[in-house]
Amino acid sequence: MQRADAPVPGPREVHAASATARSARPFLRPAVAIPVAAALVVAIALADYSTGFEARIAILYLAPVSLATWAAGRHWGFAFAIVSALVWGIRILSPQAHTQGTHLYWDGAVLGVTLALFAEILSRLASALEHSDQRFVRVLEGIDAAVYVIDDEGAILYANRRLAALADDASPLTADAIAANFRAHDDRAHPPWRPGAWVDGTELAGRRGNRRYVVQARDIPWVDRPRAYLVVLTDVTDQRIAQELQIDHQEAMHRASRIMALTETTSAVAHELNQPLVAIVGYNAACLRLLEQGGDASEIRAAMERCRAQAVRAGDILKQLRELTRRRTPEFAPCDLNERVRNALAWTGHDLERAHVAVELDLAPGLPPVQADRVLIEQVVVNLVQNAIDAMRELPVADRHLRLQTSVDADGTQRVAVSDRGPGIPAGADERLYTSFFTTKADGLGLGLSICRSIVEMHGGRIGHESGRHGGASFHFTVPAGDR
Ligand code: ADP
Repeated sequence: MQRADAPVPGPREVHAASATARSARPFLRPAVAIPVAAALVVAIALADYSTGFEARIAILYLAPVSLATWAAGRHWGFAFAIVSALVWGIRILSPQAHTQGTHLYWDGAVLGVTLALFAEILSRLASALEHSDQRFVRVLEGIDAAVYVIDDEGAILYANRRLAALADDASPLTADAIAANFRAHDDRAHPPWRPGAWVDGTELAGRRGNRRYVVQARDIPWVDRPRAYLVVLTDVTDQRIAQELQIDHQEAMHRASRIMALTETTSAVAHELNQPLVAIVGYNAACLRLLEQGGDASEIRAAMERCRAQAVRAGDILKQLRELTRRRTPEFAPCDLNERVRNALAWTGHDLERAHVAVELDLAPGLPPVQADRVLIEQVVVNLVQNAIDAMRELPVADRHLRLQTSVDADGTQRVAVSDRGPGIPAGADERLYTSFFTTKADGLGLGLSICRSIVEMHGGRIGHESGRHGGASFHFTVPAGDR
């Protein structure tokens, strides 16, 4: 097998399939085959002579003619056909021969023509075979993947030039030498190539250039041995880079959307914090006044307790804000969905007020806790409420109505529904609603619903939507009952 970086071989050099079988057998090389064919002609002629030309063995001349044609081509085949016919014709001159006469000339001519025809057919067959080999090799040389075939001992039976470009030029091309050019893509050691060691789907990194390859390995029948192993190494570097970029991009967008949500909620928090702070200032002033006037201790104590309660409330608001902004892994804990819905309403209360949206709460009483991350569940409700607010901005104030409902399905799955009376889902958008970056809003990011879906599915639930009872859209999500 020639080194794979050689030019695409010509018809006589084809190094695949049957051509490999021929070149692999030394007696099929012209330098050996021609003398062997000549020796056969002599041996047949001697046998013919020693039997007094009585044994009908002319057919044996097919052997040297075939050998010469197959190993060295049509011209040598014709030459051996003529020589064989002439050698057979020696009997015409021999007094030993019993049969004489003109029909011997005919017999000789028929034998010569038959042998020549045979050489012609055989040479056409060989040429057709070589052309099909050549097509096969050209296809393998043309594809982007590195392809090679090895036998049980790891000897290379075929390798395309793409593979040669990957392998280290200094060492001879063997299965082990090829394997030495790769490492496991995640930096774990991998065994050198032995049949079966690189299973289908193994991902490797090249030692040079750090490109990534996926292995496909198959047992295949080979021309001159019971089996061989075909290994295809497909370069997947560009796909991997694209996948990694996409993941980075999605993470960045998720973070960006959280920051945006944070910006939105900051104004709500400022609004929420303002109330306890104003109250604290008021109670504090009242305490000071009572102290100056030598007021009753119980009155001062009551004012200070109210002051403390407001300070605790302000602290709680800040604590929730911190939880929302912290980059955190989900924390599954027993969680009351009704409480999460109320909390999400508190977060969006400022926006609801500003948009003059009336809220109807229809919460199922006595919901058992579900295992969920409460901050993430709140985020889902906040996103759905924000979308509902956006959907109703153009409606007359009297029609801006939002309904939040919790319920339990027959199998214990809990369900939260957020229904508005807006224009409903845009026509034809159903399929794409939950995919990233789908938005119909001028300033939308198209991430809200895709984040909701990720969060809900992370909890083992489902998110969906339908038309609301009073028009508009109704989005719902489920959280399965029981332990996770
Ligand atoms: P965006 O930030 O663009 O609103 P979302 O993923 O939250 O991103 O929403 C994607 C699209 O789904 C919206 O642009 C809108 O077309 C549609 N949509 C979401 N919620 C509603 C709703 N309550 N009513 C009508 N359309 C909605």
